[in-house]
Formats: sequence, C-alpha cells, structure tokens
Amino acid sequence: MMGSMRAAFQVVTAWVLTAWVLTGCGSGGGPPAPVAPPAPAVPCLDVGAEAAYVECLQRANDAVWQTRFAGAGRSYVSPRLTVPDQAPRSDRTRDRAFFNARTGVHFPTTYLDDVRAAHGEHARIVLSFTVAHETGHHVQWLVRPRLRAPTRDIELQADCYAGMWARSQVAVGDLDPAVFREGAVAELRRLSADPEEVDSHGAVDERVASLDRGLAAGDPEACDVGTLTWLPAPTPGVVVTG
Ligand SMILES: [Zn+2]
Repeated sequence: MMGSMRAAFQVVTAWVLTAWVLTGCGSGGGPPAPVAPPAPAVPCLDVGAEAAYVECLQRANDAVWQTRFAGAGRSYVSPRLTVPDQAPRSDRTRDRAFFNARTGVHFPTTYLDDVRAAHGEHARIVLSFTVAHETGHHVQWLVRPRLRAPTRDIELQADCYAGMWARSQVAVGDLDPAVFREGAVAELRRLSADPEEVDSHGAVDERVASLDRGLAAGDPEACDVGTLTWLPAPTPGVVVTG
C-alpha cells in the first residue's frame, strides 16, 4: 500500500543524485553550480515541529480557498485551528480530527499519535489530507452556515474539497499528486476499519472516488453533492424553464 509512496521518495532521491552528478561533471573546472533542493512532496514538509507543520498546512489551505471565495464574490475567513488538544469539553474524548462550527478545526493528541503509529515516516503526508478534509468542512459551514444534509454527503464533499485543494497545489508545483493520493488512501483505509466511520463517511471506494473527483477537476463546483452546491441553489418555488 505504501510501497509506491516509498518508491516516489526514492525516485526523488535518485533525481537529486543524478542532478548532482551531472552538475559535478560540468565543464569549466569551476565549482559545481548549486542544485536547488526538490520541492517537498506536499507543502510545509520542511517545517520542523508537528503543530507548526499543521498550522503551515492550514495556511496553505486558506490561501487556496481565499482565492476561490474571492473569485465567487464571497468572503473567506480562516478557521480557528487547535493542535493538539484544547477541544471543547463535549469533544474531549474524540480520537479523530474534526471540525466544530463554534470552535474550528481540531487535531486531538490521540489522533496525531494514531497517525504517527500507523503511517510512520509518511504520517505528515497523511496529515496533509486530513487538514484539507477538515478545512473542507469549514468551507461547507462558510457557504451554508445552517448546513443540513446527509452526513455521508457532507463527508464525501469534504473528501472532494481535499482533492481540489491538492490539485491547486499541483498547479503551482507544491505537491506531488501521486504521493498525496497514496497518503490519503492509506488513511481512508485505516479509518474504514471502524464500521461507524464507514456508516457516517462512506466506504473507502466512495471516498477515494470523491477525492479523485476533486483532484481531477480542481474546481469546487465539481464537488457538489445533492443540495451541497458551491453556487447558491435556485430559490425554492421558482420554476426555471428553457
Ligand atoms: Zn469529515
């Protein structure tokens, strides 16, 4: 499952070595020209502390959504981010990342520990998906403060929004879509071991299909699910003809 992600890292390493060798063999006898380090597989990977890494990812998500909202004539405000702990009392036992309309995006200690234990060196790639998914919930709330829809639709749209964010980062050279997707799929498989997670969020295949829809389109409208539309839905009672 994680083999090809590891292969991707190995390819990057090989590329760096090749670039160094080629540069080192350059003519002229002078010192080799400096080789720019390759871009991280996802944004912020070079940020040291885990909490700072998540905060950096949140800013990367905010930047994309700020542009999308502005393009639609809407205002975007960043979610409050808590990482780790400091969840509201009613949410203190939660072991997953979550969005609370009142208190924002939360990354509980338990969730971070679980991701590290399950994914090891790839944990940060996994967190890039989770930050994008939770930010997707924040976006849903901004678009529809009185959000009413089937839970599974809400979750599948958040997966799609995560893919849309990733696509936007690919477009500016800040993300390797294959590495991001492998991390996301690995986490979706881990979470799907819990039947309640599948009931509320959808089966792995459905979730990956939603993620892929966002990755392919890079457009929030491509993530519309039922009544959860990016653009305002038609006013009820108004019949559109033609
Ligand atoms: Zn969710």
